[in-house]
Amino acid sequence: MSAKRDYYEVLGISKDTQINEIKSQYRKLALKFHPDRNKSSEAVEHFKEISEAYAVLSDTKKRQLYDQHGHAGVDGRYSTEDIFRGAGFNFDDVGSIFENLFGGRRQGFGGFGRQRGSDLLHETFVSLEDVLNGKRMDLDLQKNVDCPDCNGSGCSPGTSKIKCSDCDGQGQVRISRNMGFSTFVTVQPCRKCSGRGMMIEKPCKKCKLGKVKGTKHISFELPAGIDNGDYVISGEGESIPDGVSGDLIIRVNVQPHPKFKRDGRDIFYDTQLSMTDASLGKNLEVPTLEGFSKITVEPGSQPNTIIKLKGKGLHGRGFRGRGDQYVRLVVNIPKKLSKHQKDLLKDLEDSFD
Ligand SMILES: [Zn+2]
Ligand SMILES: [Zn+2]
Repeated sequence: MSAKRDYYEVLGISKDTQINEIKSQYRKLALKFHPDRNKSSEAVEHFKEISEAYAVLSDTKKRQLYDQHGHAGVDGRYSTEDIFRGAGFNFDDVGSIFENLFGGRRQGFGGFGRQRGSDLLHETFVSLEDVLNGKRMDLDLQKNVDCPDCNGSGCSPGTSKIKCSDCDGQGQVRISRNMGFSTFVTVQPCRKCSGRGMMIEKPCKKCKLGKVKGTKHISFELPAGIDNGDYVISGEGESIPDGVSGDLIIRVNVQPHPKFKRDGRDIFYDTQLSMTDASLGKNLEVPTLEGFSKITVEPGSQPNTIIKLKGKGLHGRGFRGRGDQYVRLVVNIPKKLSKHQKDLLKDLEDSFD
């Protein structure tokens, strides 16, 4: 066993930190390293480490012993179970895990320490119309699937798994060590069955532990209002024998639209009109994501005037209703004029005097 780190260091606090602050610091770290949230390989060990540090430093008596004698002061006096018993872990969001990590009711090898299949990445391109309506997707994923011969059991057809004799199907073994006046009980995964509890007596010839390469079809809906980024479909990644499946990550790229620009739920459209239309006013039809809308250009409209089409934008996550479409009036000044047109404009100019 490697040397234990200083409890204060583990929690990132100083020797005179008050109990309330220790609690909030622990809570922060526990949420960060909670094995349900943090899938890195060190998370479980780290979670145990901070929990143990918290158990000791949050208890006045144990903290005093630790301050005076270091780890020896605490370990020599309490068993692992006693250390945690006093700590009163009752945070709703981290509480349930303690049973799993520190003994208690545990079935087989639980979720921790199990291998996890890799994540699969699928990149997709969607249009603004897809963003408006949502998009149904059908994918054929090349990945490990349950062997059809043995239905994924890994056992030769007609046979089934047997209980591991070393751990009696528990997947774990308890090891007691006497240290001075106290007994340490640690629970470890069973070596013989690698923590599985059950063993394959006659392996299936077709597969490796119940998995074969294959194709899995999945169908799902990208929701309306989707944006660039990664969307996770949990558990649809690579699957491995006796492990947890990885996730399927859908990387969404919203393609630029030939007519519209997007900003969140709103879309923007430039409409061109002549300077005479801007001066005299006009009724126009402009494209929307679903068709056309009528707009009225008021007489005397200035260049870059924005006209809002309410509710013609996109859905957005966390919003009710749709965003808006903004139409900008781009007023075209003629670059080439006939002699007749120039004369007309000069007359117009003179009329302003
Ligand atoms: Zn098989
Ligand atoms: Zn076993």
